[in-house]
Amino acid sequence: MAHGPLAGPPPPVPAPAVRTVLGDIPPADLGVCDAHDHLFLRSPQLPGQELDDPGAAAAELRAFRAAGGAAVIQWTPYGMGRGAAELPRLARESGVRIVAATGLHQAAHYPPEVLERVRSGLAGRFVTELTEGIGGTGPRAGMIKVAGGFHGLDAHSRHTMAAAAEAQRATGAVIGVHLELGTGALDVLDLLCGELAVPPDRVILGHLNRSPDLVVHRAAAAAGAYLAFDGPSRAHHATDWRLPDALAALAEAGFGDRILLGGDTTTAGARSVNGGPGMPHLLRRHRERLETALGAELVTQFLTANPARAFAAAWTRPQQPGRGTGPTGPTGPTGPTGPTATA
Ligand SMILES: [Zn+2]
Repeated sequence: MAHGPLAGPPPPVPAPAVRTVLGDIPPADLGVCDAHDHLFLRSPQLPGQELDDPGAAAAELRAFRAAGGAAVIQWTPYGMGRGAAELPRLARESGVRIVAATGLHQAAHYPPEVLERVRSGLAGRFVTELTEGIGGTGPRAGMIKVAGGFHGLDAHSRHTMAAAAEAQRATGAVIGVHLELGTGALDVLDLLCGELAVPPDRVILGHLNRSPDLVVHRAAAAAGAYLAFDGPSRAHHATDWRLPDALAALAEAGFGDRILLGGDTTTAGARSVNGGPGMPHLLRRHRERLETALGAELVTQFLTANPARAFAAAWTRPQQPGRGTGPTGPTGPTGPTGPTATA
Protein backbone atom coordinates (compact mmCIF):
# COMPACT_ATOMS: atom_id res chain seq x y z
CA MET A 1 0.00 0.00 0.00
CA ALA A 2 2.84 2.36 0.64
CA HIS A 3 3.75 4.55 -2.30
CA GLY A 4 6.16 6.95 -0.70
CA PRO A 5 9.90 6.72 -1.02
CA LEU A 6 11.36 3.73 0.64
CA ALA A 7 12.96 4.54 3.93
CA GLY A 8 15.63 1.95 3.32
CA PRO A 9 16.07 -1.20 5.28
CA PRO A 10 15.52 -0.78 8.99
CA PRO A 11 18.64 -1.13 11.07
CA PRO A 12 19.03 -4.70 12.16
CA VAL A 13 17.92 -5.32 15.71
CA PRO A 14 20.43 -7.58 17.41
CA ALA A 15 18.98 -10.69 18.99
CA PRO A 16 19.11 -10.47 22.77
CA ALA A 17 22.15 -12.20 24.24
CA VAL A 18 23.75 -12.67 27.61
CA ARG A 19 27.34 -11.42 27.50
CA THR A 20 29.44 -13.99 29.36
CA VAL A 21 33.20 -13.90 29.84
CA LEU A 22 33.45 -16.55 27.10
CA GLY A 23 31.24 -14.65 24.66
CA ASP A 24 27.60 -13.88 23.96
CA ILE A 25 25.07 -16.69 24.38
CA PRO A 26 21.35 -17.02 23.69
CA PRO A 27 19.43 -16.26 26.89
CA ALA A 28 17.91 -19.75 26.94
CA ASP A 29 21.41 -21.22 27.33
CA LEU A 30 22.08 -19.47 30.64
CA GLY A 31 20.56 -22.20 32.82
CA VAL A 32 20.20 -22.21 36.60
CA CYS A 33 21.66 -18.88 37.59
CA ASP A 34 23.01 -17.33 40.77
CA ALA A 35 22.01 -13.81 39.78
CA HIS A 36 24.27 -11.95 42.24
CA ASP A 37 27.50 -13.33 43.61
CA HIS A 38 31.26 -12.82 43.79
CA LEU A 39 34.25 -14.96 42.91
CA PHE A 40 36.66 -12.08 43.46
CA LEU A 41 36.20 -9.04 45.69
CA ARG A 42 38.45 -6.62 47.51
CA SER A 43 37.41 -3.67 49.62
CA PRO A 44 38.92 -1.57 52.37
CA GLN A 45 35.59 -2.24 54.12
CA LEU A 46 36.41 -5.94 54.39
CA PRO A 47 40.06 -6.09 55.43
CA GLY A 48 41.52 -9.57 55.64
CA GLN A 49 38.43 -11.12 54.00
CA GLU A 50 39.42 -10.59 50.36
CA LEU A 51 38.21 -12.98 47.72
CA ASP A 52 41.47 -13.10 45.78
CA ASP A 53 42.37 -16.77 45.50
CA PRO A 54 41.70 -18.30 42.06
CA GLY A 55 41.98 -21.80 43.50
CA ALA A 56 39.27 -21.12 46.05
CA ALA A 57 37.11 -19.53 43.35
CA ALA A 58 37.49 -22.65 41.22
CA ALA A 59 36.56 -24.88 44.16
CA GLU A 60 33.48 -22.78 44.88
CA LEU A 61 32.41 -23.01 41.24
CA ARG A 62 32.83 -26.79 41.31
CA ALA A 63 30.65 -26.98 44.43
CA PHE A 64 28.04 -24.76 42.78
CA ARG A 65 28.09 -26.90 39.64
CA ALA A 66 27.71 -30.07 41.72
CA ALA A 67 24.63 -28.53 43.37
CA GLY A 68 23.05 -28.02 39.94
CA GLY A 69 24.26 -24.51 39.14
CA ALA A 70 24.99 -23.42 35.60
CA ALA A 71 25.67 -19.66 35.72
CA VAL A 72 27.01 -17.01 38.09
CA ILE A 73 26.67 -13.25 37.68
CA GLN A 74 29.59 -11.56 39.43
CA TRP A 75 28.56 -8.08 40.57
CA THR A 76 32.11 -6.94 41.39
CA PRO A 77 32.63 -3.56 39.67
CA TYR A 78 35.68 -1.60 38.63
CA GLY A 79 38.59 -1.30 41.06
CA MET A 80 37.55 -4.00 43.52
CA GLY A 81 39.75 -6.87 42.36
CA ARG A 82 37.35 -8.43 39.86
CA GLY A 83 39.84 -11.07 38.72
CA ALA A 84 38.80 -10.38 35.13
CA ALA A 85 41.85 -12.12 33.69
CA GLU A 86 41.02 -15.29 35.62
CA LEU A 87 37.32 -15.47 34.79
CA PRO A 88 37.44 -17.01 31.29
CA ARG A 89 39.68 -19.87 32.45
CA LEU A 90 37.50 -20.47 35.52
CA ALA A 91 34.39 -20.57 33.32
CA ARG A 92 36.00 -23.00 30.89
CA GLU A 93 37.33 -25.32 33.57
CA SER A 94 34.18 -25.37 35.71
CA GLY A 95 31.60 -25.43 32.95
CA VAL A 96 29.78 -22.64 34.80
CA ARG A 97 28.87 -19.59 32.75
CA ILE A 98 30.18 -16.37 34.28
CA VAL A 99 29.07 -12.81 33.62
CA ALA A 100 31.42 -10.02 34.75
CA ALA A 101 30.48 -6.48 35.71
CA THR A 102 31.65 -2.99 35.02
CA GLY A 103 30.43 -0.08 37.14
CA LEU A 104 31.42 1.54 40.40
CA HIS A 105 30.48 0.84 44.03
CA GLN A 106 29.99 3.31 46.89
CA ALA A 107 32.86 5.72 47.47
CA ALA A 108 33.76 3.98 50.74
CA HIS A 109 35.05 1.00 48.77
CA TYR A 110 37.86 2.97 47.09
CA PRO A 111 40.92 4.95 48.05
CA PRO A 112 40.16 8.63 47.32
CA GLU A 113 42.90 8.86 44.69
CA VAL A 114 41.27 6.10 42.64
CA LEU A 115 37.94 7.93 42.58
CA GLU A 116 39.71 11.14 41.67
CA ARG A 117 41.35 9.43 38.72
CA VAL A 118 38.23 7.77 37.27
CA ARG A 119 35.33 10.03 38.10
CA SER A 120 35.42 12.26 35.03
CA GLY A 121 35.39 9.41 32.51
CA LEU A 122 33.03 6.90 33.99
CA ALA A 123 30.51 6.43 31.19
CA GLY A 124 33.26 5.94 28.62
CA ARG A 125 35.01 3.44 30.89
CA PHE A 126 31.80 1.47 31.40
CA VAL A 127 31.10 1.35 27.66
CA THR A 128 34.64 0.23 26.87
CA GLU A 129 34.47 -2.55 29.42
CA LEU A 130 31.10 -3.70 28.07
CA THR A 131 32.02 -3.61 24.41
CA GLU A 132 35.79 -4.04 24.13
CA GLY A 133 36.91 -5.70 27.32
CA ILE A 134 38.12 -5.11 30.85
CA GLY A 135 41.62 -3.73 31.13
CA GLY A 136 42.40 -3.95 27.44
CA THR A 137 42.83 -7.72 27.16
CA GLY A 138 40.20 -9.03 29.58
CA PRO A 139 36.72 -10.36 28.84
CA ARG A 140 33.81 -8.03 28.19
CA ALA A 141 31.55 -7.09 31.06
CA GLY A 142 27.90 -8.11 30.78
CA MET A 143 26.26 -5.74 33.27
CA ILE A 144 26.76 -2.40 35.03
CA LYS A 145 26.91 -2.37 38.84
CA VAL A 146 26.22 0.78 40.85
CA ALA A 147 25.17 1.47 44.44
CA GLY A 148 22.76 3.60 46.41
CA GLY A 149 23.10 4.74 50.01
CA PHE A 150 21.11 4.12 53.18
CA HIS A 151 17.64 5.54 52.46
CA GLY A 152 19.11 8.01 50.01
CA LEU A 153 21.55 8.88 47.26
CA ASP A 154 24.69 10.92 47.83
CA ALA A 155 26.50 12.91 45.15
CA HIS A 156 28.78 9.99 44.35
CA SER A 157 25.79 7.68 43.81
CA ARG A 158 24.06 10.19 41.58
CA HIS A 159 27.18 10.78 39.52
CA THR A 160 27.80 7.05 39.11
CA MET A 161 24.18 6.34 38.19
CA ALA A 162 24.17 9.09 35.58
CA ALA A 163 27.24 7.48 34.00
CA ALA A 164 25.59 4.05 34.21
CA ALA A 165 22.49 5.41 32.48
CA GLU A 166 24.64 6.77 29.65
CA ALA A 167 26.43 3.48 29.26
CA GLN A 168 23.10 1.64 29.39
CA ARG A 169 21.77 3.78 26.57
CA ALA A 170 24.89 3.21 24.50
CA THR A 171 24.99 -0.57 24.92
CA GLY A 172 21.66 -1.99 26.12
CA ALA A 173 23.29 -3.50 29.24
CA VAL A 174 21.29 -3.98 32.41
CA ILE A 175 22.14 -1.95 35.54
CA GLY A 176 22.36 -3.83 38.85
CA VAL A 177 22.00 -1.67 41.95
CA HIS A 178 23.35 -2.43 45.41
CA LEU A 179 20.72 -1.04 47.78
CA GLU A 180 22.28 -0.28 51.16
CA LEU A 181 20.57 -2.67 53.58
CA GLY A 182 17.86 -2.98 50.95
CA THR A 183 16.74 0.63 51.30
CA GLY A 184 16.24 3.46 48.82
CA ALA A 185 14.68 1.36 46.05
CA LEU A 186 12.18 4.00 45.03
CA ASP A 187 14.76 6.81 45.17
CA VAL A 188 16.92 4.78 42.79
CA LEU A 189 14.01 4.20 40.41
CA ASP A 190 13.10 7.90 40.51
CA LEU A 191 16.63 8.79 39.48
CA LEU A 192 17.41 6.05 36.98
CA CYS A 193 14.04 5.60 35.34
CA GLY A 194 12.62 9.07 36.01
CA GLU A 195 15.34 11.68 35.57
CA LEU A 196 17.69 9.52 33.52
CA ALA A 197 15.05 7.68 31.44
CA VAL A 198 16.48 4.18 31.80
CA PRO A 199 13.82 1.61 30.85
CA PRO A 200 12.67 -0.02 34.12
CA ASP A 201 13.33 -3.52 32.81
CA ARG A 202 17.01 -2.52 32.47
CA VAL A 203 17.29 -2.09 36.23
CA ILE A 204 17.87 -4.81 38.83
CA LEU A 205 17.43 -3.75 42.45
CA GLY A 206 19.68 -5.82 44.71
CA HIS A 207 19.41 -6.77 48.37
CA LEU A 208 15.66 -6.19 48.70
CA ASN A 209 15.57 -9.17 51.05
CA ARG A 210 17.42 -7.03 53.60
CA SER A 211 14.48 -4.66 53.88
CA PRO A 212 11.36 -6.82 53.85
CA ASP A 213 8.98 -3.98 53.13
CA LEU A 214 6.34 -5.62 50.98
CA VAL A 215 4.84 -2.31 49.95
CA VAL A 216 8.13 -1.10 48.51
CA HIS A 217 8.79 -4.48 46.87
CA ARG A 218 5.46 -4.31 45.15
CA ALA A 219 5.91 -0.72 44.03
CA ALA A 220 9.32 -1.50 42.54
CA ALA A 221 7.98 -4.55 40.73
CA ALA A 222 4.99 -2.58 39.47
CA ALA A 223 7.39 -0.01 38.05
CA GLY A 224 8.88 -2.80 35.93
CA ALA A 225 12.26 -3.30 37.58
CA TYR A 226 13.76 -6.66 38.46
CA LEU A 227 14.08 -7.43 42.16
CA ALA A 228 17.07 -9.43 43.38
CA PHE A 229 16.77 -11.30 46.66
CA ASP A 230 20.38 -12.13 47.15
CA GLY A 231 22.36 -13.56 49.97
CA PRO A 232 21.64 -15.23 53.25
CA SER A 233 21.77 -12.59 55.92
CA ARG A 234 24.41 -12.47 58.60
CA ALA A 235 23.83 -9.46 60.83
CA HIS A 236 20.17 -9.25 59.91
CA HIS A 237 19.06 -12.83 60.30
CA ALA A 238 15.47 -11.79 60.88
CA THR A 239 15.05 -10.97 57.21
CA ASP A 240 15.80 -14.50 56.04
CA TRP A 241 12.66 -16.14 57.34
CA ARG A 242 10.51 -13.42 55.83
CA LEU A 243 11.75 -14.22 52.33
CA PRO A 244 9.22 -16.92 51.38
CA ASP A 245 6.34 -14.62 52.38
CA ALA A 246 7.85 -11.68 50.51
CA LEU A 247 8.27 -13.70 47.32
CA ALA A 248 4.80 -15.25 47.66
CA ALA A 249 3.27 -11.79 47.98
CA LEU A 250 5.02 -10.60 44.84
CA ALA A 251 4.05 -13.71 42.90
CA GLU A 252 0.42 -13.44 44.00
CA ALA A 253 0.38 -9.84 42.84
CA GLY A 254 1.50 -11.03 39.41
CA PHE A 255 5.17 -10.12 39.65
CA GLY A 256 6.71 -13.59 39.66
CA ASP A 257 8.55 -12.69 36.46
CA ARG A 258 10.49 -9.89 38.21
CA ILE A 259 12.23 -11.99 40.88
CA LEU A 260 15.89 -13.02 40.86
CA LEU A 261 17.81 -15.04 43.45
CA GLY A 262 21.48 -14.83 44.39
CA GLY A 263 24.01 -15.83 47.01
CA ASP A 264 26.19 -12.72 47.33
CA THR A 265 29.27 -14.31 48.85
CA THR A 266 31.40 -11.35 49.89
CA THR A 267 34.04 -12.79 52.21
CA ALA A 268 36.38 -15.75 52.16
CA GLY A 269 34.78 -17.10 55.33
CA ALA A 270 31.35 -17.17 53.67
CA ARG A 271 32.50 -19.59 50.96
CA SER A 272 31.13 -23.12 51.12
CA VAL A 273 34.64 -24.48 50.72
CA ASN A 274 35.53 -22.65 53.95
CA GLY A 275 32.51 -23.90 55.86
CA GLY A 276 30.11 -21.06 54.98
CA PRO A 277 26.93 -21.13 52.89
CA GLY A 278 28.62 -19.92 49.70
CA MET A 279 27.16 -20.37 46.25
CA PRO A 280 25.78 -23.92 46.74
CA HIS A 281 23.54 -22.75 49.59
CA LEU A 282 21.31 -21.05 47.04
CA LEU A 283 20.54 -24.38 45.37
CA ARG A 284 20.48 -26.56 48.45
CA ARG A 285 18.67 -25.21 51.49
CA HIS A 286 17.51 -21.96 49.96
CA ARG A 287 15.91 -23.47 46.88
CA GLU A 288 14.39 -26.32 48.85
CA ARG A 289 12.90 -23.96 51.40
CA LEU A 290 11.42 -21.70 48.73
CA GLU A 291 10.01 -24.66 46.80
CA THR A 292 8.22 -25.85 49.92
CA ALA A 293 6.59 -22.44 50.25
CA LEU A 294 6.07 -21.47 46.62
CA GLY A 295 6.18 -24.62 44.51
CA ALA A 296 8.97 -25.86 42.29
CA GLU A 297 7.74 -24.28 39.07
CA LEU A 298 7.87 -20.74 40.36
CA VAL A 299 11.28 -21.16 41.96
CA THR A 300 12.64 -22.63 38.73
CA GLN A 301 11.35 -19.52 36.96
CA PHE A 302 13.23 -17.32 39.47
CA LEU A 303 16.45 -19.26 38.79
CA THR A 304 16.28 -19.66 35.00
CA ALA A 305 13.75 -17.76 32.88
CA ASN A 306 13.93 -14.54 34.91
CA PRO A 307 17.72 -14.12 34.91
CA ALA A 308 17.85 -15.13 31.24
CA ARG A 309 15.54 -12.21 30.48
CA ALA A 310 17.09 -9.78 32.95
CA PHE A 311 20.71 -10.17 31.85
CA ALA A 312 20.04 -10.50 28.13
CA ALA A 313 20.56 -7.33 26.15
CA ALA A 314 20.11 -6.37 22.52
CA TRP A 315 23.74 -5.28 22.52
CA THR A 316 23.93 -2.21 20.39
CA ARG A 317 27.00 -0.84 18.77
CA PRO A 318 28.63 1.58 21.16
CA GLN A 319 27.81 5.17 20.47
CA GLN A 320 29.89 7.89 21.93
CA PRO A 321 28.59 8.44 25.41
CA GLY A 322 27.82 12.00 26.36
CA ARG A 323 26.30 13.05 23.06
CA GLY A 324 22.93 13.56 24.69
CA THR A 325 21.09 12.04 21.74
CA GLY A 326 17.74 10.40 22.13
CA PRO A 327 14.57 11.41 23.88
CA THR A 328 16.09 11.41 27.28
CA GLY A 329 16.11 15.06 28.16
CA PRO A 330 18.26 16.57 30.86
CA THR A 331 20.44 14.26 32.85
CA GLY A 332 20.29 16.15 36.08
CA PRO A 333 22.79 18.37 37.83
CA THR A 334 25.32 15.67 38.58
CA GLY A 335 25.39 13.87 35.24
CA PRO A 336 28.63 13.76 33.29
CA THR A 337 26.96 15.29 30.30
CA GLY A 338 30.02 16.32 28.35
CA PRO A 339 31.96 14.01 26.06
CA THR A 340 33.78 11.56 28.23
CA ALA A 341 37.38 10.54 28.00
CA THR A 342 38.13 7.04 26.92
CA ALA A 343 38.93 4.54 29.64
ZN1 LIG B 1 27.30 -8.23 46.01
